[in-house]
Amino acid sequence: GAEMTETKSPTTREIEFNPDEIRRDFPILDDDIIYLDNAATTFSPETVVEALVEFEHHYRANVGRGVHRLTQIATQRYWHAHEKVARFIGGGEGITVFTKNTTEAINMVAQGLSWRPGDRVVTTILEHHSNLLPWRALAKHGVEIDLIGIDADYALDLNALEEVLSGGSVRLVAVTHASNVLGVTTPVPEIARLCREHGALLLVDAAQSLPHMPVDVSSLDCDFLCFSGHKIFGPTGTGVLWMREALIEPPVLGGGMVASVTSDGYVPAEGYLRYEAGTPNIGGGIALGAAVDYLSAIGMDRIHRHEERLTARLIEGLSATEGVRVYAGKRPDARIGVVSFIIDGVHPQEAAQMLDEEADIMVRSGHHCCQPLMDYLGLPEGTVRASLAAFTTEQEIDLLIAAVDEISRGR
Ligand code: PLP
Repeated sequence: GAEMTETKSPTTREIEFNPDEIRRDFPILDDDIIYLDNAATTFSPETVVEALVEFEHHYRANVGRGVHRLTQIATQRYWHAHEKVARFIGGGEGITVFTKNTTEAINMVAQGLSWRPGDRVVTTILEHHSNLLPWRALAKHGVEIDLIGIDADYALDLNALEEVLSGGSVRLVAVTHASNVLGVTTPVPEIARLCREHGALLLVDAAQSLPHMPVDVSSLDCDFLCFSGHKIFGPTGTGVLWMREALIEPPVLGGGMVASVTSDGYVPAEGYLRYEAGTPNIGGGIALGAAVDYLSAIGMDRIHRHEERLTARLIEGLSATEGVRVYAGKRPDARIGVVSFIIDGVHPQEAAQMLDEEADIMVRSGHHCCQPLMDYLGLPEGTVRASLAAFTTEQEIDLLIAAVDEISRGR
């Protein structure tokens, strides 16, 4: 909207989407590498680095404490960064909390809700360990976990979900918006409808959807949205917990999160403050604001379309390569730029090493923090995973396919 353009942002590109132009904003890409590990973490454009440096050089001070001019600038910009992130996900009505990463955001919800024995949490076989272990740890409160499975097309079994929800004791459903192994997206609005019908809260792990597609909390209709700043061009050590309203108790107490402290208690501060006890990652948070400015200027729909095209090309190319098995979303309208594959006879670690050494291509290998999914797929050694970004080019995709072909032939 109008407010978006008034914030400091790179030139809006109204012309055809051009990854070569985007690449110029990422100095690290000058190093002649092909970086296809963006799902693990990605790079920051120069505007994000500049925001960090500007904080360090000109106004580094604590936030929400005192009145001097540096703390005023820092406080105002840190607050404004929350506003930008909230707008980016259509979450202006809710509470946008800055965290360290997705993992911390999910743990805050698991620890911040008050659990009763017999409560159930439903999650899925697609989940990253970060959206599984925090829920399993609630066993000490008598909470039980149900895991929803997938079909041959990797789509979630919504009938099973509905059945568990019908049992009546489900407090929360925690589901990924996009798999970090298979790239498939999940039908969150449909899941939300089921949750509403049965009075369950809905937490969405958006760590992999936010970087690749437009995400809007009101159309998802979730109660909690968790994601990582470092996967959307922000600095490492940044993440977000968005919630519809103050649904949880602050799991961490101390300075900065109170309006007042009395002899035997405290009055929590309003809004995100009560969930950000202690001195936060101020420069990182402000730079995360610059990251969403950058993404907004390009347009998430454009990034999505670009990656959609490259993902189809990658899946097609790898599928046609002899000795290669692809594990990726089968529906073009329900996947993101994350593709797993196996080269027959070559261990995923070895394949990733060869891609680096022989073709300067960086990919991830292993179980991707998704061991239950790997077991389910019968892939205990994991997969090789290529994950795209806005700056990925068609040429890079073709080089990857050619390099995989070479490895497969030489095996
Ligand atoms: N959830 C998903 C789907 C992920 O892909 C990741 C990161 O790989 C995480 C959670 C955890 O993110 P972080 O390591 O930033 O906490």
